[in-house]
Amino acid sequence: MKYAVIFDVDSTLTNNRDREQFASDFVGDKKDKNGKRNEPWHDMFQDGRLYHLDRPIGSARVMWHRLNTQVIDRADRGVELSFILLSGRRDTPENHTRFEDWLIQHGFPAPTRIIFRPVGQETDSWKHSVMESLIGKYEIIAGYGNERDMPVYEEGGFEAILVDEEGKGWKMPERWDEVVHP
Ligand SMILES: [Mg+2]
Repeated sequence: MKYAVIFDVDSTLTNNRDREQFASDFVGDKKDKNGKRNEPWHDMFQDGRLYHLDRPIGSARVMWHRLNTQVIDRADRGVELSFILLSGRRDTPENHTRFEDWLIQHGFPAPTRIIFRPVGQETDSWKHSVMESLIGKYEIIAGYGNERDMPVYEEGGFEAILVDEEGKGWKMPERWDEVVHP
């Protein structure tokens, strides 16, 4: 069986407050009556040319290295585990490249897969549908993310680990030893 661990990106691996602030300073962050920010703000915030403003979350990086090293060490015993990043960032080839560069520059291990949201899709329902297709291909042992990710992960039937942009909440998945050190 192929196993996987899922990571959200924004406020899970990255602190993007500076990118938010930049978008607000540049185009203004006037909200509509539903509290939603305007389209120019989103276009600016979602522009991969600003990813370099993001700061890495230290405990996320440490935990991911810890997991990754153990999987590499056990590869000769047939342990196959993928690290999948699932994010509402806009899916363009440029954004993928810029984010891969960001990960390298900030000392994160290389993920197995990065899945970004196609333009025009609503984040939560999109994550639901991607999760369903992943469940058919992998046995997912845990997902790390923020509050809005928790219902998506829980519906997938695997451990949902709540973390925040302060780097709190990181812990080993409950099924880790069963899968990686059987
Ligand atoms: Mg997030």
